[in-house]
Amino acid sequence: MSLVRQDLAALPAYVPGRSLPGAIKLASNEVPYGPLPGVVEAITEAAANSHRYPDMGTVRLRDALADRYRVDADRVVTGCGSVALAEHLAKATCLGPDDEILYSWRSFEAYPIIAAVSGATSVRVPNLPDHGHDLPAMAAAVTPRTRMILVCNPNNPTGTALRRAELDAFLDAVPETTLVVIDEAYREFITDPEVPDGIQTYADRPNVVVLRTLSKAWGLAGARVGFLVAQPAVAEAVRKVLTPFSTSALAQAAALAALAAADEVERRTALVRAERERVLPAVRKLVSEVPETQANFFWLPLGDRSAAFGAACEERGVVVRPFQGDGVRVTLGTPEENDAFLAAAEAAFAL
Ligand code: PMP
Repeated sequence: MSLVRQDLAALPAYVPGRSLPGAIKLASNEVPYGPLPGVVEAITEAAANSHRYPDMGTVRLRDALADRYRVDADRVVTGCGSVALAEHLAKATCLGPDDEILYSWRSFEAYPIIAAVSGATSVRVPNLPDHGHDLPAMAAAVTPRTRMILVCNPNNPTGTALRRAELDAFLDAVPETTLVVIDEAYREFITDPEVPDGIQTYADRPNVVVLRTLSKAWGLAGARVGFLVAQPAVAEAVRKVLTPFSTSALAQAAALAALAAADEVERRTALVRAERERVLPAVRKLVSEVPETQANFFWLPLGDRSAAFGAACEERGVVVRPFQGDGVRVTLGTPEENDAFLAAAEAAFAL
């Protein structure tokens, strides 16, 4: 008899992007510009009251989000990062191995872990050769046991994005008894007008949940704030399984300050998008098959060379994110950081 669940021994741990002192970190899809104006002050101010529990209902923050995204506040749930909310959604939908969580692969590394920890069965549908989700195959993989489908748009780590027509057809094909979670962690970086905003386009469907984070464009990865928009009954169920007080007082204050700095967020996001335009053609001269990306990162499908390429970049002071046997994900940074990556990549390929 083991003290802890025996199946956990075989479960791979979540591997975060590496931080190396002195190196340029392009490994975790963060934005490179430091905290937004007002964020540090707001956290400092909130810290003065940190002997008190936070507002568990995160009322001010949910009101601010509801206002910004034009939805009712009772449909918004905040949590300790959107990854925690994805876990809560698994808890709210799945009881055990008879319940299936469906997602495309490769996608966000946390999905298989969330499925395994919740005790559900993972069903993976391979990505298309262009590295995007195969939505028709995903729809065909739905069974009466499918409790939750995770659709990552744009997809981490490939950057590929799903367009309106294909998503419409997919959602029409999925039964309303299956929850579809559209994970839009990178929504703010999208420029393709054909890629729909999940909150505005789909959140009124009874079985759709849209997941967002303040970790990426909003620059709050360290504060841990994510949110979801769902139908009131689903939001209510998620609140029941939520770890109490999981959006800390400091996180709530930081998020409110970040939302108040939306113009600056847009300015910074535009810089990242412009860098994507500049850097991608240069990257494609080195690796021809880089898929179209709508995110703040791009994917190098280097297969068996991925780990060696990652190590070669690291030796040159640039930390990227290799997935050995598959590819390397590189986050867009400042122009200087991206130039350092291009130089490191060129040197790595010259070896
Ligand atoms: N979804 C996707 C697709 C992600 O890439 C990430 C972060 N890597 C998350 C969710 C989780 O973000 P957070 O928990 O920081 O909100």
